[in-house]
Amino acid sequence: MQATDQTMKEQVQSLWTSKRPLIISGPCSAETESQMLETAQRLAATGKVDMLRAGIWKPRTRPGMFEGIGVKGLPWLLQAKKITGLPTTVEVATAKQVEDALSFDVDVLWIGARTTVNPFSVQEVADALRGVDIPVLIKNPINPDLELWTGAVERVQKAGIKQVGLIHRGFSSYGNSEYRNAPMWHLAIEMKRRNPELPIICDPSHISGRRDILQAVSQKSVDLDYDGLMIESHIDPDNAWSDAKQQITPERLAELLNDIVWRKEDVNSEEYHAALEKLRQQINHLDDELMQILAQRMKVADKIGQYKKENSITILQTNRWNEILERAFKKGEAMGLSKEFITKYYDALHMESINHQNKIMND
Ligand code: PEP
Ligand code: MN
Repeated sequence: MQATDQTMKEQVQSLWTSKRPLIISGPCSAETESQMLETAQRLAATGKVDMLRAGIWKPRTRPGMFEGIGVKGLPWLLQAKKITGLPTTVEVATAKQVEDALSFDVDVLWIGARTTVNPFSVQEVADALRGVDIPVLIKNPINPDLELWTGAVERVQKAGIKQVGLIHRGFSSYGNSEYRNAPMWHLAIEMKRRNPELPIICDPSHISGRRDILQAVSQKSVDLDYDGLMIESHIDPDNAWSDAKQQITPERLAELLNDIVWRKEDVNSEEYHAALEKLRQQINHLDDELMQILAQRMKVADKIGQYKKENSITILQTNRWNEILERAFKKGEAMGLSKEFITKYYDALHMESINHQNKIMND
């Protein structure tokens, strides 16, 4: 299939605005011409992929690893597009990379996590994009900072780019964890809340860092009503030149997409809406009660504060706090509440209590 530049632009435009979920896949890195073309063909054969990705310049954490094939890989990507009819997307981090990608008709650009953290680099890319009409996806920065992510969005928008989207690829943390990059879903949800007009795509590959949890991470993003998925695929994942542990074959990708339960944010059934409305009212009611109980709890904390003040006792008494937490973990576990939630909830409760008591002590 061969598309003219104009029809390809229209295809990308329509994918961007109305294809949901938008599925982007391809290798972490373009390695050889045959690897790129075979991956693209096998992806297209699944009939489930909307756009081809490939890393051409790879920002690797440590030197000495494969740092991308460079400009040499761009004609392979153009060829992959010609063969499959699928538009392409590439990561760019410098003005020169933007120029090279554009000269090989890359259809969508993305800014990587290591670039989003650096306003100088984002500005350089944004300046190179001035006057260009191309969609740009912006990955979250590697550190959990929504302002940096927002700043990158603003820099690209100020350069005149109209179609900006977000990619959630998780956040680095020190030490081992289940994930390569902690998803911190609440941050992506907050970014989505602040920017409802920007499409948000999940990158389960870089969140997971391994194949066995890709399905669960993808499902979670679908349940959170993301607009699409970017998943790395390779014809021989174990021997990939980068990110070998997290890549899957095109056929495995098709299975993964098949096994996802696609939920709709909204459906048009009156019965469903009525049932949902009832449940929502229950939630509102319970939230009101919780709020009242919390206010009562603070009033008791105020009394304790008064008592401590009269008897010159410190506000924080570690033993008592440990006792409260132990009790809460036990009770919470029995009621199906996670330790993580109980910890966060009690931390917030404790801080509010201390603030109340502080006020009383110093009045
Ligand atoms: C990539 O998509 O291959 C990549 C380098 O991603 P990130 O910027 O999320 O690390
Ligand atoms: Mn990768």
